[in-house]
Amino acid sequence: MQSFTYDQPAARVVFGAGALARLADEVKRLGASRVLVLSTPEQEKEADEAARHLGSEAVGVFSRAVMHVPIETAREARETAKRLGADCCVAIGGGSTIGLGKAIALESGLPILAVPTTYAGSEMTPIYGLTEDGIKKTGRDRKVLPRTVIYDPELTLTLPPRIAGPSGMNAIAHCVEGLYALDGNPIISMFCAEGIRALARSLPKVVQSPGDLSARSEALYGAWLAGTVLGAVSVGIHHKLCHTLGGTFNLPHAEVHTVILPHAVVFNSKAAPAAMRITAEALEAETAGRGLYDLAVKVGAPISLRDIGMPEDGLERAAELATQNPYANPRPVDYAGVLALLRNAYEGVRPE
Ligand code: NAD
Repeated sequence: MQSFTYDQPAARVVFGAGALARLADEVKRLGASRVLVLSTPEQEKEADEAARHLGSEAVGVFSRAVMHVPIETAREARETAKRLGADCCVAIGGGSTIGLGKAIALESGLPILAVPTTYAGSEMTPIYGLTEDGIKKTGRDRKVLPRTVIYDPELTLTLPPRIAGPSGMNAIAHCVEGLYALDGNPIISMFCAEGIRALARSLPKVVQSPGDLSARSEALYGAWLAGTVLGAVSVGIHHKLCHTLGGTFNLPHAEVHTVILPHAVVFNSKAAPAAMRITAEALEAETAGRGLYDLAVKVGAPISLRDIGMPEDGLERAAELATQNPYANPRPVDYAGVLALLRNAYEGVRPE
């Protein structure tokens, strides 16, 4: 018999090729008229284009977003928003830029309109992160959830295959863990299965034919579903390991997700058989672990921790850290099991 709580923070979603042209209308819909546009230095061109769409409603462009939202950058952006009298932020870019928008919203309550250009999914979550003295602290606050999200697959055409592959695998990881989340529910499970299906179908095409707009569109649709999952339910051993490895050993975010995922799935396979069956079916694979590993190979993403800079003598420390205050997980998180998982991920072995 089913029993669950469905608590989905809702955002308005506008999806489609060329949807950026609707930016000015969507800003008006929010009742805003003084917009600060945010981006990374690499995506300043996109930010300028967004400002052009907004005309006189754009009061400035802040293009200094960087990974993990350093507190100094957040302070600078908050002051810029205040000085310009901004009443809305448009964040155009990946998780780093949307994260900067969240840092502004956390303090000021300014509404965010997000225009995501990667598959990380931050735009659909009330999760924020700020890094101070090298330590990243995260929290949840509905204030930081973007009010409107414009998904325009045309903006992802420039996402290079070496970023698109791991970014898509990162999105799949949200879906896989959503399927066995202890606070999961049947609606979110539908999002998970459809998200895995859409991403597994489209990512190989995105990587092989970067100009294929219909594959780009399907991948972004999958990423939307995956972001929704991340915002709605809790995550387990996979995300815990990725946060530990990223934070302590400074490994690249999406690549760590790609490498760990098949092994985290094997770790949980006996404790979450239904989730494994749904994942394998969505991947059209024999088992979830092998399907995820083979997909990573197919999209040219890294498959071993060794290849992304993990020191071998750090594996035991990582296993210790990941077993302290573990996230809720279907299988109890034990040191020996996690160390074995990490050794397999270090070597990049294909799951049995
Ligand atoms: P990112 O935002 O750091 O982007 C990586 C690089 O790719 C940047 O230089 C960016 O300018 C560039 N880029 C982005 N889109 C592009 C495009 N379409 N074409 C060309 N270049 C493009 O990477 P990310 O993986 O999207 O985000 C990672 C960050 O987001 C991490 O800090 C992670 O912790 C955070 N995150 C947060 C949440 C959340 O819910 N709060 C969710 C996922 C990720």
